[in-house]
Amino acid sequence: MQEHGQQFEVRDTGFWLGGLSLRRPRPGVRGHSPGRLDDRLCGVAAEGDPRITNQASYLQGATFEWRSWSSDQPDWDHDHCEFCWVHFGDHVFSDDADTQLEGWTTTDGQHWVCRTCFADFRERFEFQTVNAAP
Ligand SMILES: [Zn+2]
Repeated sequence: MQEHGQQFEVRDTGFWLGGLSLRRPRPGVRGHSPGRLDDRLCGVAAEGDPRITNQASYLQGATFEWRSWSSDQPDWDHDHCEFCWVHFGDHVFSDDADTQLEGWTTTDGQHWVCRTCFADFRERFEFQTVNAAP
């Protein structure tokens, strides 16, 4: 008797709440785990750090210089760290107190890496430098 009553109650509320939230279309974010796959397939590049994706394909052995972030294009107002995606800009953005005003950039200015990530990954990716960070 007690068991029957409990079951009924759970089913009754679960039908509406569960039905509404579970049937909503969701983006296909589940199904496989990229981090895990990387760990298995390319052990050197991944080692479990979530910041590492495929940077080795374009940053391995790259040469960097330390400089203030700037842009010569009016519609280009920020970059992201290639690893942790922190902002780089010429001022601290109102929505990101952690905006980096200077950092490591490849000598062609195409890629930016923050001080922390550069220190973490410079050996692994064999980064070269043309100057030194202050
Ligand atoms: Zn970073």
